[in-house]
Amino acid sequence: MMKIKKLMRDIELLEKVEELSEQSPNACIQCGTCSAGCPFVDEMDVLPERIFKYIVLDEVEKVLENNTMWICAACYTCSVRCPRDIDIARIMEGVRQIILRADIDNVDVDEVDNIEELPQLAVVGCFRKETG
Ligand code: SF4
Ligand code: SF4
Repeated sequence: MMKIKKLMRDIELLEKVEELSEQSPNACIQCGTCSAGCPFVDEMDVLPERIFKYIVLDEVEKVLENNTMWICAACYTCSVRCPRDIDIARIMEGVRQIILRADIDNVDVDEVDNIEELPQLAVVGCFRKETG
């Protein structure tokens, strides 16, 4: 909680997302094409384009409090369909990077049941996605 509060206080969200992803959420026209084709949208708390709106408005808490960037499977369907040529998957990755670099884990390993029975790749993927 302390880490999240510090991150919310310190970060220039739009600037950092643009730096890490080399994409601009500002270019989004909220057409919804990304959400319409996303195979995982039903599992997301908020739609991808809503995340971009929050980023542009510097609503850090709203970005952090939902699961959208963690549910994103980086399948790139939205990235190839976006009429503004925004690589949405890279923005999701940028948001994950920001959170992970603040030393905030998406999943608490102590709370995962039967972790030893899960495939190692699935566990690592759950924690880190593409993030190095
Ligand atoms: S497809 Fe592109 S322009 Fe349309 S809502 Fe998604 S990110 Fe924005
Ligand atoms: S890259 Fe993420 S947000 Fe885009 S379609 Fe795939 S799962 Fe959905």
